[in-house]
Amino acid sequence: MREQDDLMRRGIGMTSQRTRERLIQRLSEEGVANTKVLDVIRRTPRHLFVDEALSHRAYEDTALPIGHNQTISQPYMVARMSELLLEDGPLDKVMEIGTGSGYQTAVLSQLVERVFSVERIKVLQDRAKERLVELNLRNVVFRWGDGWEGWPALAPYNGIIVTAVATDVPQALLDQLAPGGRLVIPVGSGEVQQLLLIVREEHGFSRRVLGSVRFVPLLNGPLA
Ligand code: SAH
Repeated sequence: MREQDDLMRRGIGMTSQRTRERLIQRLSEEGVANTKVLDVIRRTPRHLFVDEALSHRAYEDTALPIGHNQTISQPYMVARMSELLLEDGPLDKVMEIGTGSGYQTAVLSQLVERVFSVERIKVLQDRAKERLVELNLRNVVFRWGDGWEGWPALAPYNGIIVTAVATDVPQALLDQLAPGGRLVIPVGSGEVQQLLLIVREEHGFSRRVLGSVRFVPLLNGPLA
């Protein structure tokens, strides 16, 4: 029984494998085309990033509550945003704003060289850290702080991904983009939110609007 539990926890159980495969199929039907991204999502145990009471829903394509009024992002959004970041080729340094459960962090860490992840809620960050260690994903460093400020000491970044909706594009994040660097960020408020891809060009920034999205807000300041 113990052994069985262990297997299920790790997601090697048959049911889990089937439901994961169904999710991957759905994501590709929805237009996610990057096979590396799909492979990483296939092998990342999302059920370890939610409360046990919700783990039976972990492979549905939906956001789920993780406490503190926050949610684990919808797998489609995680896939789409990762794909947008990687569209122009592999990335070395990526900063993530809004660690939350650590699920997007775990996916990113398997797609890029190094991830720098900023979260304002300490307890969420601590739990996310534990999960990544448990999964042996070691190329991630965490900062407890305010995502509006980014992580200037380690800038510049080749990619920045923000997993909460900002009222405006934070200037600090633009400043911390390397030449050619890519920022994927939801901007807006309430029901009116758009996903943007901003690229640091030789002179200034280009900006692509990628459609409506739904995220929790990017708030102010760190929280103990
Ligand atoms: N990618 C996460 C999504 C978490 S929801 C996941 O899949 O689990 C958004 C997260 O952004 C929350 O954890 C929230 O606390 C965090 N957040 C909100 N405002 C922030 C800010 N100013 N700085 C850092 N993190 C912030």
